[in-house]
Amino acid sequence: MAKNQVAPIKGMTLPQLELMAAVLGAHLGRHLLDELELERVVYWSDSQIVIHWLSSEKQQNKFIKNRRKEINDLTGSKHWRYVPTHSNPADLQTRGISAKEFEDNTLWFHGPPWITQPQSWPVWKECDTTVLSAIENTETENCSETAKDKRMEPTSNVMDIVQIERFNSYQKLLRVTAYVIRFVDNLRKREDRNQGKLTAGELQRAANMWIRDIQHNIYSTELECLRSRTQHHLIRQLKLYIDPGNMLRCGGRINNAPIPTDAKFPLLLPGKHKFTHLLIQDTHQRNCHAGTGTVVTLLRQRVWIPAARQIVRSVLRKCVSCKKVSGKPYLAPAPPPLPKDRMLDSEPFSVTGVDFTGELHVKSANGRDKKVYICLFTCANTRAVHLEIVPDLTEESFLRAFRRFISRKSLPKIMMSDNATTFVSAAENIRRLSQSVAVTDTLCQAGTVWKFIPKRAPWYGGYWERLTGITKDCIKKVLGCTYM
Ligand SMILES: [Zn+2]
Repeated sequence: MAKNQVAPIKGMTLPQLELMAAVLGAHLGRHLLDELELERVVYWSDSQIVIHWLSSEKQQNKFIKNRRKEINDLTGSKHWRYVPTHSNPADLQTRGISAKEFEDNTLWFHGPPWITQPQSWPVWKECDTTVLSAIENTETENCSETAKDKRMEPTSNVMDIVQIERFNSYQKLLRVTAYVIRFVDNLRKREDRNQGKLTAGELQRAANMWIRDIQHNIYSTELECLRSRTQHHLIRQLKLYIDPGNMLRCGGRINNAPIPTDAKFPLLLPGKHKFTHLLIQDTHQRNCHAGTGTVVTLLRQRVWIPAARQIVRSVLRKCVSCKKVSGKPYLAPAPPPLPKDRMLDSEPFSVTGVDFTGELHVKSANGRDKKVYICLFTCANTRAVHLEIVPDLTEESFLRAFRRFISRKSLPKIMMSDNATTFVSAAENIRRLSQSVAVTDTLCQAGTVWKFIPKRAPWYGGYWERLTGITKDCIKKVLGCTYM
């Protein structure tokens, strides 16, 4: 005899549905008990949560409380036993089975082999459920989410127990979580308690617990859509699926690649969670402060973070060690507006900057090596240049060059040059020249004013320094190793 009921589309969690099935079973059992005058009926369920609800005295919500009372009135809670999923005949029908397999299926027609021997009936222990939240006195609703399938690991609400905001190291977070899990496990055991150093397996379990919890928290909509087989853009985009460990993994097309499963089907992690940031930080530090590209590649061996590169970059930007080594100095302030002298709408060379380049080696008339200098005149407004070769840095040479310059171009109203103490070589000479009586006289006669830029501020003379550099570069490029 069998009885079934169609599940409502919405509004009930799976454990609630399983509880409803238990109510149905209890009514059926009662009916058989009355009609056939049986002595005793044993009820089997593969839902550990339902068995837990029926055997527990704990205060539950109204829905569970009412149905628990109904079942207890009909059957009594002592007659409920746990059947493992693989031995449950009812499971064949709900999961589906081919006609051929069904034909000679002994489980359906005769029940599990142990059913006739009460001494070998499976015994259910509460700790088998590994529901960490049990100690947290959490709402039963919370763990009900997890128990779709007994093969799946339930979520543990580890986020409520360990406060991640107080951690700044991934390893420390895992170790603390692992110790908490061990403590809870040890509480359940009377003997053979786990002590000593943490094992790699325990740390792995702690990490998985965190990832599972975060996924159930952040991607609850996606999980719900996956379970109800409805469409969701993220599921389609990343080919998401729930693995046997109740974790969200990304699918792909590299199923056949000879790489670890984690790399083929990485776990999905939200980019904006503290846990992800700690994981990125840890990967970065354990790989000698590797760069963004390397960290992203290493992370993808195990997890998939949407927009990973951006997030990794933002986390790495905060690394103190990296900043100490590769930090850049403060940027120079924004350049101020150009001075009035340089913005005059006047004839070319009205305001002229002057400077000497470094020495050049040339061949003299008698074939000997000789030093010469270039005296550079540049217009502050038009940036035109006038070059004069001078044999030395004396006043006479400069004055000759200056005369040649004003003869070819025009007489400047303002001459500008380096301050004496700014540069030792060329500037020193210009200062000396400008202070000499002969030069000053000539300049005064021509009505030219000589201005110095402030001391220790070479950038004031930037406009001729830059052209000096360009001129030297051009000479080097054109002449190369030629000796003139
Ligand atoms: Zn770093």
